[in-house]
Amino acid sequence: MLVTVRHAEVRSQMIFTNDTIDALHFAAALVNTVPEASATGVDELGDPAALVAILDRWWYSGRRDGDTRELAEVTAARARLRALWSRDRDDAVAEVNAILAESNAVPRLVRHDALDWHIHATSAEAPLAERILVEVAMALVDVVRADQLERLRTCDADDCEAAYLDLSKNGSRRFCSTRCGNRMAVRAYRARA
Ligand SMILES: [Zn+2]
Ligand SMILES: [Zn+2]
Repeated sequence: MLVTVRHAEVRSQMIFTNDTIDALHFAAALVNTVPEASATGVDELGDPAALVAILDRWWYSGRRDGDTRELAEVTAARARLRALWSRDRDDAVAEVNAILAESNAVPRLVRHDALDWHIHATSAEAPLAERILVEVAMALVDVVRADQLERLRTCDADDCEAAYLDLSKNGSRRFCSTRCGNRMAVRAYRARA
């Protein structure tokens, strides 16, 4: 493949596609349902209804069983994605490749609902947990190739473990939310006073 000057220039801009960004925001939301990261401090993926709520909020398409088995599989996928959030680049690659191989992922362009052409690498009938894992793995294929894995961050606040995607221009975002940013600013101010 050609490596051109133009390629190097593009690299300095935000280069994720919309489907990649959506997949990573969804992954962060799912990962942040664990008690250590959730706003309520409880497991926000506690029952099948909670799973339905998060899927509806993200317009998640395809098969849904709505049973406890599916919930257990998605909960296991959540743990895997959460671990992925703090891996270094080479370890993330190993996990991404493992996920794609396990599910026999075959990337193809699809268009459905109101969405323009984007990538699916599993069928809409594959189990939900598998589709979630593969979708995030495909997003990470982009992130790793763009050498932007550090955009997957965990909140810097000492009492918050929330995962987020840093889309700031210079990659300088430190907190998952303005709530955490303000709280830490107040704490730093008090410490100085
Ligand atoms: Zn789709
Ligand atoms: Zn936070």
